[in-house]
Amino acid sequence: MELDYSNVGLKYFNLYMSKQQIQPPFQNKYKLRLVSQSDSKSCLICYKPTNVVLITENNADFFFICNSHLLDESFAKPIESKEYNDLKNEVDNLEKQLTEVNKKIEETKPYLWGINYWSKDKKKNDKDDKEKENKENKESKEDKSKANSHESYKSKATEIEKNLSTKKEELQNHKFKHYNLNSTTYKNRLMLNQKKKYNKERSEKIQTDGFFPSAPTHNIN
Ligand SMILES: [Zn+2]
Repeated sequence: MELDYSNVGLKYFNLYMSKQQIQPPFQNKYKLRLVSQSDSKSCLICYKPTNVVLITENNADFFFICNSHLLDESFAKPIESKEYNDLKNEVDNLEKQLTEVNKKIEETKPYLWGINYWSKDKKKNDKDDKEKENKENKESKEDKSKANSHESYKSKATEIEKNLSTKKEELQNHKFKHYNLNSTTYKNRLMLNQKKKYNKERSEKIQTDGFFPSAPTHNIN
């Protein structure tokens, strides 16, 4: 098996973390924050200036990220909020309603109305006139009510369509507030955090007396 050297550091880190059973200094849940344009810094990935910051809940880690990388799902995924899910459900419901109403529109389509007239049995013409008249009256009333409901279904569909397009637009423009980093990126953030902590401790140690053997003070003859 070939060794993937780019991952060696990560593998040791994982092993270290699992052996130590250390609670990570921050969870993989980042909040989106915007700073002023003048405080923009370079994106973690592409170095383009950006005023978008992802920061952990406990403020232990943060970095700048441009909008296009924020939308890159291989980098981070938005955490769906209740607000977002409610909106999604609303869109689903409206789509179902529209399908139902469109079915009704088909069922009440004008070409279906007159069928009874054309298929009427001519042999029955000699039947009681009154009965025939009643039947025709009834049919024309049915046609009228069908025509009415056809129109009302059509206007209902227009109403739903309008509502649906508004909600769909809202869904598309929804701004997520929380993100999960992909696991490799998150681990890299943890590693970087460890490294910073180590460097800080080290430089503090260097500054304390006695870390380096003191230079000989006596004269060498
Ligand atoms: Zn970027």
